[in-house]
Amino acid sequence: MPDSYRGVGVGVGIVVAPLVKMGRPPELPSAHPVEDRPAEAELAKQALATVSADLLARSLEASDPTAATILDALSMIASDPALGDQVDELVAARTDAPHALHRAFESYREMLTEAGGYLAERAQDLADIRDRVIAVVLGLPMPGIPDPGHPFVLAADDLSPADTAGIDTGSVLALVTEGGGPTSHTAILARSLGLPGVAACPGVMSVADGTVVAVDAGAGVVEVAIDHDRQVELQRRAQLVEAELETAAGPGRTADGHPIALLHNIGAASDLDGAVDEHFEGVGLFRTEFLFLDRTDAPSFDEQRSAYAAVLRAAGGRKVVVRTLDAGADKPLPFANPEPEPNPALGVRGVRIARQTPEILTVQLAALAAAVSDVERAEAWVMAPMVATPDDAAWFVQHARSAGLGTAGVMIEVPAAAIRAREIVAEVDFVSVGTNDLCQYTFAADRMAGALSTLLDPWQPALLELIARCGDAGRALGKPVGICGEAAADPALAAVFAGMGITSLSMTARAVPLVRRALAASTLTECEHVAKLVLGAATADAARALALQPPPRDGR
Ligand code: PEP
Ligand code: MG
Repeated sequence: MPDSYRGVGVGVGIVVAPLVKMGRPPELPSAHPVEDRPAEAELAKQALATVSADLLARSLEASDPTAATILDALSMIASDPALGDQVDELVAARTDAPHALHRAFESYREMLTEAGGYLAERAQDLADIRDRVIAVVLGLPMPGIPDPGHPFVLAADDLSPADTAGIDTGSVLALVTEGGGPTSHTAILARSLGLPGVAACPGVMSVADGTVVAVDAGAGVVEVAIDHDRQVELQRRAQLVEAELETAAGPGRTADGHPIALLHNIGAASDLDGAVDEHFEGVGLFRTEFLFLDRTDAPSFDEQRSAYAAVLRAAGGRKVVVRTLDAGADKPLPFANPEPEPNPALGVRGVRIARQTPEILTVQLAALAAAVSDVERAEAWVMAPMVATPDDAAWFVQHARSAGLGTAGVMIEVPAAAIRAREIVAEVDFVSVGTNDLCQYTFAADRMAGALSTLLDPWQPALLELIARCGDAGRALGKPVGICGEAAADPALAAVFAGMGITSLSMTARAVPLVRRALAASTLTECEHVAKLVLGAATADAARALALQPPPRDGR
């Protein structure tokens, strides 16, 4: 077994703790006709009871009331007599327990989907309960987030947004995954949970459960064979990172005082808990679709109005850039993406949905405008995702203005939009560069693909050149150009972006202090110099190395 595994670092910090793997969904063995039908039926019934009791116990322990309600509902599904009866019938017809359970859950899922509303939303959770029950029948470890009873590093093949949402940050200290790229939504959610992690880390699932590992998010390394001295050394470094995060303060500025606002990326009002202090400069990306990921029906006007008002209130009068629903590809929303697409990342997503079905956007903009009027001090900017042409931009701005929203902009995350940045900036009040998608589409490299992480490196000169075009357009037309993709959280890139004319950087709260410190190390002229240097680099590694070399002593 190697001593360390390399991947792509997510977030900041170092954690030393035992690794525990996420249980894989069980595979159904081949079917066999049952001899002892009563015993087989009992086996299935016991498994349903075990899982129901486990879910109920977790619901009683859950500190979050929403999680408690969901777990309670799931426990009730597992103990529903109708489900048990159907399993009995199937076993009576000589179907073995795993297959009987599988089929019974399948017809239960169809029933819930047909019922619609809240029940249909829970239909997605049935696969999780089914896998748990079948694992119990087969005597396999329970799939899903493990609960070893002590703090641990969670290792997984990959994590779905639903898995990540169920993580208890009191016991999960860090995340490591074999799959998932640096800009996958898993990584984004992990960052917003404030957990350090390493994604795209091949081999890490072969580490035995319980092995003490060190996860260094900054270095993108998971170390395994760590002796006592190394543990002490790592813990000391972990404390230094924490101390640094606590002491950095003040608004984002270069060494000579040029302001670059350092904003937060959020998915809900709760992401601002504890984040709004005197140094808080606002929200640069509020991903509204994160509120509705498990929904089958469109959120109502009232529901959206109160969710947006909660965020505006939590931001305490600071700017909040609200992004309209970015449904599609790795964030499908069933109510917005009803038709399966052969190639969803290149399909009808983001503003393209709005242009085909304006109803969803119209309700969202109206709900946001109402939320603004509900909150005493509200500074809401609104922007659309996946804009490809100046015409898309003009269309969106016109809709936002008709809804009564004063500051309207768009994301630049499609290469065509970056190439025509000037024409796009001319149509809007501001733009924000989404480097995650811009990288994916520039390099034709799926952002979820761990194997392509070298192409998804934000230091790739082709990506930097497109960002520079956006900065130039903003400077020429005197309009703000922010960055809200994951690249904004890289401290070493902060000076590069400042030198390209970028006016704000938006990231997870945990990254703000490190970016603030990095930005304050160079004057604007030095930033401009380093921006020119990296644009001349041939490779991502060369660009990074050029940016990290000390600045020339005479200024240039
Ligand atoms: C991006 O693409 O960089 C971005 C910020 O949007 P998302 O990651 O939500 O697609
Ligand atoms: Mg995007």
